[in-house]
Order: sequence, then C-alpha cells, then structure tokens
Amino acid sequence: MENILDIKNIQTNVPLSNYTTMRVGGMAHFFVQPTKIKYMVKIIKFCLKNKIKYYILGNGSNVIFSDKGFDGLVICTKKLNKIKIKKNVTAECGCNLYALNKKLISYGLSGMEFSYGIPGSVGGAVCMNAGAYGDDMSKVVNKVLVFDGKKIFKLNNKEIDFSYRNSKIKKNNLIVLKAWLNLKQKNKLSVEEKCIENFKKRRLTQPYEFPNSGSIFKKVENISAGKIIDDLNLKGLSFGGAQISTLHANFIVNANNATATDVIKLIDTTKKIVKQEKGIDLEEEVIFIP
Ligand SMILES: Cc1cc2nc3c(=O)[nH]c(=O)nc-3n(C[C@H](O)[C@H](O)[C@H](O)COP(=O)(O)OP(=O)(O)OC[C@H]3O[C@@H](n4cnc5c(N)ncnc54)[C@H](O)[C@@H]3O)c2cc1C
Repeated sequence: MENILDIKNIQTNVPLSNYTTMRVGGMAHFFVQPTKIKYMVKIIKFCLKNKIKYYILGNGSNVIFSDKGFDGLVICTKKLNKIKIKKNVTAECGCNLYALNKKLISYGLSGMEFSYGIPGSVGGAVCMNAGAYGDDMSKVVNKVLVFDGKKIFKLNNKEIDFSYRNSKIKKNNLIVLKAWLNLKQKNKLSVEEKCIENFKKRRLTQPYEFPNSGSIFKKVENISAGKIIDDLNLKGLSFGGAQISTLHANFIVNANNATATDVIKLIDTTKKIVKQEKGIDLEEEVIFIP
C-alpha cells in the first residue's frame, strides 16, 4: 500500500448519514469496509504511518458526525461479522447484535438476551459497555482481542475495566477485533422468549419509527436522564428537523430531514435548560465527531 487509494475497495465521498442510525452528518472523504481482520489492522497501520486521520465505526448507532463530515478515513467494521460457536463462542467486532442473538437463540445459548434490539455491533457494544434491563456487556464478555496501533493482544474481562457505558477500550482508543463470550446453555425457547420480551418492551418505550441514536444522555446518579428531561416537559421540543421524542425524553429523533447541527443544537439547548432549571449537568452518552 503506497497511497490511500491503493486500499482495496476504498470509496470516496461517502455520506455518513447512510452509516449512522440518526441518519445525519456529512461525507467521509474516504470510507472502507474491510472483510478480514488482518486487513483492517494493515489499513490502520498504514493510516498511522502516513498520519492519516481514521475513525472506527461499527453500526453507527451511538455516533453522530458533524455536517462537515470526516476529513479522513472511516473504517466501518460491518463486514467483519463471523460468529463461531464451538467449545467457545467468538464474534468478530462488526457482527451485529441482532444477527448474533438470532444465532445464539438457535443454539439455546443464554446471556446476550438483554441486547436483543440494541442496533449495535459487538465492537461498539464492548467499547460502550452497552446494556439494558440490568445486564450489560461486562457480564458476558470473557475476553477480547484488541489492537492498539502497534500490537495485537488479548484483554480479559477484568482488564477491559468495564464501567457504566465505558471501558478501557473507549478510554485508551483500543480497537476490538474479536470477542469471546461466556454464555449458558439453556433451551432455545426460553432464550427466544426472553429476547422477544425485551424487544417488546423496547418497542413500547422507544421511538423505533424515527431514526435516532438511542439514549442521548447518561444517567445522573442512577436517575434516568429521560425522567429529568420529561419532568421539565421537554418532550416534543424541536430544533429544525430534530425533536425530543414524544415517547421517550432521552431520545432525540430525526423527525424531518434533520441535520447534525439541528441535533447538536437540540442537545445543547436541553443541557442548558436542565442546568438552569435543575442545576444538573447532563453528560452525553452519544458520541459527536466534530
Ligand atoms: C434505537 C436504539 C436503541 C438503543 N438502545 C441501547 C440500549 O438499550 N443500551 C445501550 O447501551 N445502548 C443502546 N443504544 C446505543 C448503541 O446501540 C450502543 O451503544 C451500541 O453498542 C453501539 O454499537 P455500534 O456498533 O453502533 O457503535 P458505533 O456507534 O459505531 O460506535 C460507538 C463507539 O464505539 C467505537 N467502536 C465501534 N466499533 C469498535 C471496535 N471494533 N473497537 C473499538 N471501538 C469501536 C466507535 O469508535 C465509537 O466510539 C441504542 C441505540 C439505538 C439507535
């Protein structure tokens, strides 16, 4: 590889709105979806050597790029999606949680049911310690294979240092290549029923009919940000095409051709009102790439 355009299947000027669930954001100058882990590592090494800015994107369900886009290479992991179920269960970083859960259901393997309906990838979920209904990734990940830009190594559960929507992966900008999961053998029906039950709860409480990025803010001392925002009657507040969901106050939806700027302005306005009215500093769970 001599030149960035030598990267196999590289694309130029790709709309990031097509790769993020909020469906906003400008273009990625360069964009690639490697199909082999080895090749992704090679691409990252090339970027580091040539001082090319890059960003690792999973399913884009927790990221918002600005309207000016990303003036570097976005490496999307979606095609790194192999799952192996033998003595151990391993999933590559780009494997989406829906496909993974479908596979686990067919083997009657229990532990990931909480994630059924979270539209993320394994890598994004480990990075963010995604969780729901009292469970999160820290409870199921046995170890991960990571790349730090120089070397590939394993981190066990303890070393990943999971915390609320955070991990060593996020803090140290490590790249998850593959994860090993600790699951329990149960019967297929019970695993499937739990998944369906969780998904039903989501559909009742979350605005699935509009593009969104899940929870915008983190909990504040165990109080949901949604409750804090709802108490201030902010549901329905809009800026441009972005709106605080009328169903769930911690979700901002792309209700009508929103731009990233609309979403960010609405986030900032919400933070200001909450600070002013309640003296609380909300912190974003969603990641904004300026
Ligand atoms: C409708 C909806 C419901 C949601 N519900 C929940 C929920 O219940 N609980 C919850 O926790 N979240 C929820 N989310 C948020 C989001 O789905 C999770 O945070 C998810 O784990 C993000 O995964 P992703 O692949 O989309 O990550 P992305 O959005 O692509 O990336 C998120 C972060 O992870 C990093 N990343 C991605 N892949 C890798 C990798 N291989 N190695 C290292 N870093 C990586 C990115 O660089 C970025 O910093 C929801 C989102 C939506 C849209």
